[in-house]
Formats: sequence, structure tokens, C-alpha cells
Amino acid sequence: MADKQEEKQLTTAAGIPVDDNQTSLTAGERGPTLLQDHHLLEKLAHFNRERIPERVVHAKAAGAFGTFTVTHDITNYTKAKVFAEIGKQTEVLGRFSTVAGEKGSADTVRDVRGFALKFYTTEGNWDMVGNNTPTFFIRDAIKFPDFIHTQKRDPKTNYKDDTPQWDFWSQVPESLHQVTILFSDRGIPAGIPYMNGYGSHTYSFINGALERFWVKFHFKTQQGIKNLMQDEADRLAGSDPDYITRQLFELIERGDYPKWTLYVQIMPEVEAEAYRWNPFDLTKVWPHGDYPLIEVGVLELNRNPANYFADVEQAAFSPANVPPGISFSPCKMLQARLFAYADAHRYRLGANFERLPVNAPRGTEAHNYQRDGHMRFDGNGGGSPNYEPNSFGGPKANPAYKEPPLKISGDAARYEQKRSVDEDYIQPGNLYRLLPAGEQTRLVNNIVGSLKKVPRAIQEKMVKHFHRADAQYGERIAKELGLT
Ligand code: NDP
Repeated sequence: MADKQEEKQLTTAAGIPVDDNQTSLTAGERGPTLLQDHHLLEKLAHFNRERIPERVVHAKAAGAFGTFTVTHDITNYTKAKVFAEIGKQTEVLGRFSTVAGEKGSADTVRDVRGFALKFYTTEGNWDMVGNNTPTFFIRDAIKFPDFIHTQKRDPKTNYKDDTPQWDFWSQVPESLHQVTILFSDRGIPAGIPYMNGYGSHTYSFINGALERFWVKFHFKTQQGIKNLMQDEADRLAGSDPDYITRQLFELIERGDYPKWTLYVQIMPEVEAEAYRWNPFDLTKVWPHGDYPLIEVGVLELNRNPANYFADVEQAAFSPANVPPGISFSPCKMLQARLFAYADAHRYRLGANFERLPVNAPRGTEAHNYQRDGHMRFDGNGGGSPNYEPNSFGGPKANPAYKEPPLKISGDAARYEQKRSVDEDYIQPGNLYRLLPAGEQTRLVNNIVGSLKKVPRAIQEKMVKHFHRADAQYGERIAKELGLT
């Protein structure tokens, strides 16, 4: 419900008092409307322009503000100010989304959830644009638009069809790990507070001595993992399509603030080459036994947005936004996202999207030589110099922020990752084997529920993949599908 306000004079966008907002200006009581009713024209024209381009992925979302508090010292791994001392607090915005559905789609569908956080640090914004899964379907972004097309509406019928996704997955075995997670119970979280968030990609930390570490981020829910069973999710999708959005808003409104513990996994730079997994392959986790979780701090969501469009729809996250002490890795998916996210926001919001209040830094100020462009609504740099080098005190770069060099070598070519034949099957098999018996059965049933709708040849290819991950996993799916 709208907030009660002190009554103000209604005006046009130019601030001119409006005398009547209920009847339009007409030539006589039953006559046509006059073009000079500027208030009416402006009202209709602005209404026509209320929608901005919807995100092509992650369109449906809930968001909230909160606080990140450091509880453990990790300054030997990173000099990022956000982790500078125990007790330090940083304001955060979180946006939690489904991936495939449109902005009005139901919350309780089986889908990966976006878990995007903007930390307003004193050295600029850190956007941790993760998911509720530690992996993804593909490890090379050149496949991304094709994969996402399989999650969207059929180009001819405009309704959703299960065949394209299984057709794609059956030919891209690296997807098996994420497919297993998606069709497990965690594929439909019971709410945002009840799921984990993962940075998913490998990133890097750089410490004060300019040493580099590879890092993975894990936000583990303090509310416990809770998921919806398929029947309940289907019922809610019909009766309350905004169930998860509403749940988060209402919990925060009544002071029941959801919390996550942030852990990191740390790999010294030199260990990457010899590690048994490619540590930059987004379809793999680093097993906890190899790289244990190190506790860092607590994320709490404690403030609802004052206005959804201003605070959540216009929020723009980009994994390229990392403050000093946090940086990138050679992960091919991350490398592409460093370009694609800001590019999407320039299309959605315009060249000055980082100036919008929700996106602008809060712990510091932005100073640069970017000028003009659509909707430049701040002072546009005033009379300060708009070029560099200049002799008039314009902002300057500081070499103290240089990262240590990253050793790279190799021939420029297109490389398909091939290390061992079974590499893409081991971790999905491990996951299947760690699930309790009831969850294994539901996983099989969820897969069969979708796979039974697709052509036999695709089912056969998929069963071979499941079988390679775990013989029982494959055999149970084959049996349910009536395949040998
Ligand atoms: P571990 O036994 O050390 O870790 C198992 C992890 O699996 C848990 O910590 C938990 O991660 C996750 N898990 C537990 N139950 C479920 C479930 N029902 N559905 C999905 N994930 C679950 O083994 P490994 O580290 O070797 O991992 C084994 C498999 O677990 C991996 O192949 C991967 O599929 C999955 N996994 C691993 C993660 C990792 O970072 N190593 C993270 C998440 C899943 P969490 O506490 O993060 O929920």
C-alpha cells in the first residue's frame, strides 16, 4: 500500500500547478478534447514510456538493502577495504531473480536464481553478481545466447517447449552438473532467505604485499536450505505468482531479517596450474576437502526498497565492478560477463546508468572525464576539465592501485577444454551420490517429468550422460522412460 503523505499541489513535470486531474479540457460538454490540454497529453505520453527494456535474463526479481559485517580477518588474502577490519560494516543492495521468465512470470518455477549484491564500499562499488548455484551450464560464453534461447519461448508458437533445452544439454555434457542441481530439490527454493548464494566464478584476491590468490565466494543461508516440492510450486505459481517476492518483503517489513554467512575458498596462485580441475571452469566446484571454507562475515537484508523501479529495476550490477584487492580470473564466462553486463545496462538505462542514485557509489564519489550522454542529470562535471592530461587539477590515476602482473602464455587459438574423458561426469556423479535417497528419487522424477516430453533420440543421448555420471542415476531415468 502507498505511504501516507503530506498533501502537495499537483503539478506538471515542469512544476506548473494543475487545476483538474479528473476531467479533460473539451470544446463544450460533449465535444472533443482540446490539444491545448497539455497536462492530459503529458500524462498520456509519459505513461506510454513507462517501460524500459526488460532484462533478457534475470527479468523477474525482488530486491532489498542490507548490511555486510566483517567477523573474521582475511587481510592476509586481500587488501579490499570492505574486509579491512573485524566489525566493519558496508551498505549492500541485493537483487534476487529467476533467469528465464519474463518480468511478470511466476516466482516458484524450476530455475536458477540470481544472487546479485552491490557492496557500496569506500573504494567504489563491488558487484558480486552470483547465483544460487556454485556452477553453470556452460564454461564458454560463446555458447551463452544459444543456451538462453533454449530457455525461452518457441520462436514459432511462442510457448515454452522442453525439447530445445534437452537437445542442447544432450550435446553439451559440461552442462550435466548444473542440470543435476537444477532438477534436484534446490531447483525450486522455498524463498530467497532459504537459499545459498555463490560467486560461482573464480575471482582473485590481491593482498597488501601484492600477492594473488584465486577465490570463490559462498554465502550460506543462516535460515537453513528450504525448497518447494514440485506440486506445491506448481500450485503457488497459479495462486500467488509473486509468492517469493512477497515473502521477502513481508519478512523484512516485520523485522525478520534474513542473514547469510560469507565464506571464501582460497587457492594460492601457483596451485592453479597443477590442480586436478581447471579452477577457472565454471561447470566445476572446488571440493571442500581440497579448499575448505574460510569464514569472513555476515550479510543481513534489513531494508525494503522505497520504490521498486528506482531501487531494483534500475539497479545495474556488473561483475566488472571490483574494488582494489578483488579482481578477475581467466574464467571464460567471467571474461565475457565483464563486457556483457555493463553493455546490457547501457542498452536498458543509457550511458549514464552508473549515475542513477541506486548505482552511484555511496562510500566514495566517482570522478572521471566522462561527459554528456542521454539523461546526464547531475552537474556533468560543471566547469572542471573534461580531458587529461590537464593543468587544472582534474582527477588523476594512482599507480598504487596497480595489480601484480598475471603470467599468461600460449598460442592464440580456439581451445575446447579436454583434460580427461570423464571430467564432466565426475562432479555430477558425486552430487548424485551425496543426495539422500528421497532426494535422489525426486531428482529422477523431476528429470523424467520434463525429459519424457522430448524426442526419443534426445532421451537416449541424455540417459548415456546420466549413466556416465553414475550408473544407478542413468538406469533409474532409463527405466522411468522405458529405455534400456
Ligand atoms: P562435500 O561433501 O565437501 O560438500 C558437499 C556440499 O554439497 C555441501 O557442503 C553442500 O554445499 C552441497 N550439498 C549438500 N546437499 C546438497 C543438495 N541436496 N543439493 C545440492 N548440493 C548439496 O563435497 P564436495 O565439496 O566434493 O562437493 C560434492 C558435490 O557437492 C559437488 O560435486 C557439487 O555438486 C556439490 N556442491 C559442492 C560445493 C562446493 O563448493 N564444493 C557447493 C555446493 C554444492 P553448500 O554447503 O554450499 O550448500
